[in-house]
Amino acid sequence: MKQPENTRPDQNAEAGTDPTGPPNFIRTIIEEDRAAGKNDGRVATRFPPEPNGYLHLGHAKSICLNFGLARVFNGTCNLRFDDTNPAKEETEYVESIQEDLRWLGFDWEDRLYYASDYFQRLHDFAVQLITDGNAYVDSLSAEEIRAYRGTLTEPGRESPFRNRSVAENLDLFARMRAGEFADGEHVLRAKIDMAAPNIIMRDPTLYRIRHAEHHRTGSHWCIYPMYDFTHCLSDAIEGITHSVCTLEFENNRELYDWVLDQVWPTGRPYQYEFARLNLTYTVLSKRKLIQLVTEGQVAGWDDPRMPTIQGLRRRGYTPEAIRDFCDRIGVARRDSTVDMALLEHGIRQDLNKRAPRVMAVLAPLKMVIDNYPEGQVEELACQNNPENPSAGSRMVPFSRELYIEQDDFMEDPPKKFFRLAPGREVRLRYAYFVTCTEAIKDDTGRVIELRCTYDPATRGGDAPDGRKVKATLHWVSSPHAVPAEIRLYDHLFSVENPGDEKAVADWKDNLNPDSLTTVTGQAEPSLVNVLPGSRFQFERLGYFCADPDGAPGRPVFNRTVTLRDTWAKVQKAKKK
Ligand code: ATP
Ligand code: MG
Repeated sequence: MKQPENTRPDQNAEAGTDPTGPPNFIRTIIEEDRAAGKNDGRVATRFPPEPNGYLHLGHAKSICLNFGLARVFNGTCNLRFDDTNPAKEETEYVESIQEDLRWLGFDWEDRLYYASDYFQRLHDFAVQLITDGNAYVDSLSAEEIRAYRGTLTEPGRESPFRNRSVAENLDLFARMRAGEFADGEHVLRAKIDMAAPNIIMRDPTLYRIRHAEHHRTGSHWCIYPMYDFTHCLSDAIEGITHSVCTLEFENNRELYDWVLDQVWPTGRPYQYEFARLNLTYTVLSKRKLIQLVTEGQVAGWDDPRMPTIQGLRRRGYTPEAIRDFCDRIGVARRDSTVDMALLEHGIRQDLNKRAPRVMAVLAPLKMVIDNYPEGQVEELACQNNPENPSAGSRMVPFSRELYIEQDDFMEDPPKKFFRLAPGREVRLRYAYFVTCTEAIKDDTGRVIELRCTYDPATRGGDAPDGRKVKATLHWVSSPHAVPAEIRLYDHLFSVENPGDEKAVADWKDNLNPDSLTTVTGQAEPSLVNVLPGSRFQFERLGYFCADPDGAPGRPVFNRTVTLRDTWAKVQKAKKK
């Protein structure tokens, strides 16, 4: 398995904001720029999502980096919706993105922008390019334009419309804007070089005709600017100094610079690329995530199996754990894949400190304590978090009939099984020592009930005579237990790199059919009216978060992670 770059020791500082932490290369660039007096030392970044889906962990990396840089250098970070594509963008996404950013703990103050707010200015820059002889209206079809573009080894060919006069270009562009033409009839292209080694520079399209309703500008426009034209100019308009994006835009940097050189030559932003986040056992691409949602492979964008911010939140992740994860993976110039176990390690560490312990049984097995008085109920003190003594304790009822975990009993135990078996004594957490006297079976031979005896002298879980037991089990009192729907999650995909489309016909063939298992468990009574979003450690089982699907008296829990920490194990093994 691949290791993340820049693994850092545990720390709680916000992502990228610790000036004493190891610098990333972008921070180094900014430090050098400031030392050279560029932009009078001012630092302005932006996070520019396209509102065509929900935010995922990859976006969180970009958010932590951009907002983090602004915080380190006392600068600003804008939120800008890159909403130039009228067909795919929706208000639902605009709202969810803001909600997620706030939940993650970032604040853009009054700096909320939309690329669509710049449509008039972008149009005027396009007119300037035409006037200067740097852009032309092309009337080739999309297919012809592709055919004329050439390949990596062959130069492109010039369009027969490339040498239209400025006057004709201005007239055609005005008529494009006025709605005289159908989609695809004409485009506006930059006049650069059809033989450029960088194919992006072979007269890229700047504007296309789209007779479509835009979520903010309605039908005011029927021509829409392309990403490469919009992004650099939006950065310039907002006074961005460092425009940070992912590596797949490396080749676009030349065009970013070209556009600005033509129309915004001084006081302009510069683009820097970093490696996008890839994570094992999941995909981080809105294009793919949206398919899972629309095809019903998951319950929605906030399905707890999704790597979206809303999915992780519903699963029980905290903003702190996500920011800490972004801090640990670091910022590099080369693509790599981070192990999902690192993300899980982080949330375990966070919840270990903050999540109260409770008892719940996932697969209940009835236990009757024959020598315990019928009708008697004792309230036993149980610690809320042994890691944090100030968390105090709560009273949990104990009675003659209990549930324990089916897995905690074996009739014929192998050598290394130390939990309950016929004739064996174990501890019930915070309660008593019990000894199994009999296993009662149904017709099929399945154990359906255990008969036990308890030792009244061991109240609280310790034997005054000092005798030891090898196992401590969790339990709930059956007359007091609250039935709970418990959703157990596994990886969404069954292979490490599901996005690697070479291995299978369709990346969705890699979906894990067992990513969700639902069981009806029994929980201690303190969980009867739990608030959605509350997080707990179910003793010995893992961390769980109450789901909004639950109702008073009928809780639903999502398992965030099990207690088994594969990441810590790997790290330990490496040290040896
Ligand atoms: P996707 O491939 O999921 O559609 P995108 O890059 O098209 O992502 P945008 O909405 O354009 O999505 O992304 C906003 C910002 O988040 C961009 O600056 C983009 O580079 C960054 N970003 C997106 N995915 C990742 C990722 N996996 N790792 C780091 N940054 C990312
Ligand atoms: Mg994008």
